[in-house]
Amino acid sequence: MGENWFTVEKINHSTFVISEYLHPEETHCYLLCGSQKALLIDTGLGISNIYHEVIKLTDKPIVAIATHIHWDHIGGHKHFSEFYAHRDELCWLCGKFPLTKDLICHMLASGCDLPSTCNLAEYELFQGSPSKLLDDGDRIELGARSIKILHTPGHSPGHMCFWDETNRFLFTGDLIYKGLLYANYPSTDPQAYLKSVEKISAYTPAKIFPAHHSLDIPVEYIAQVQNALRALNDRHLLCHGSGKFDYGDWSILL
Ligand SMILES: [Zn+2]
Ligand SMILES: [Zn+2]
Repeated sequence: MGENWFTVEKINHSTFVISEYLHPEETHCYLLCGSQKALLIDTGLGISNIYHEVIKLTDKPIVAIATHIHWDHIGGHKHFSEFYAHRDELCWLCGKFPLTKDLICHMLASGCDLPSTCNLAEYELFQGSPSKLLDDGDRIELGARSIKILHTPGHSPGHMCFWDETNRFLFTGDLIYKGLLYANYPSTDPQAYLKSVEKISAYTPAKIFPAHHSLDIPVEYIAQVQNALRALNDRHLLCHGSGKFDYGDWSILL
């Protein structure tokens, strides 16, 4: 079963989505190939070895990057010698991640049959030193393909969205997806969340790609989330502890 853990789909000749549909998180990772190197946006849960999948898709050197340093996006980082991170989440890579290993293992095992190759007793939250620290507006040059870093805090302090100018693809991580959005942890910031959604609203993507759940997200979805958060803000509800708000196929927990 370990071999079938990932579902790989081709978006275009140089872009792939690698999904973990067998887990309730339904995490998506994206491989963006340039003429010189490839960028792997998020490395998933770490239940199965994503490196074995990506080397079937590219022969270029691969740099890993996470939309943010949460356990479900950095699970496969250990397989890559080079990875980049936003400076505002550096402390989560050196022993200060706020969740315990037991809690993460509980979330990894809940609601899913783990592959026989996965031994949670050996699970360790990834820790390491990034080969490069990123800031808002930085670019990652892949060769005939330039990826712009958009610092989008709110779900987490160093959350990043990625703008692929060549294809007009916007990778939105945990800031925007269909399902329950989380802005309730102590490390979240509901006001920053709105500002980040407003920031990505300035872009006109041909397609948006989330880090979880359905890949079928119309580009107008960003404006819907923005309008809903602005309305909550007008009612002074865009703050921690105000509860859960439902909007059909998405909701937000504050
Ligand atoms: Zn997250
Ligand atoms: Zn996530």
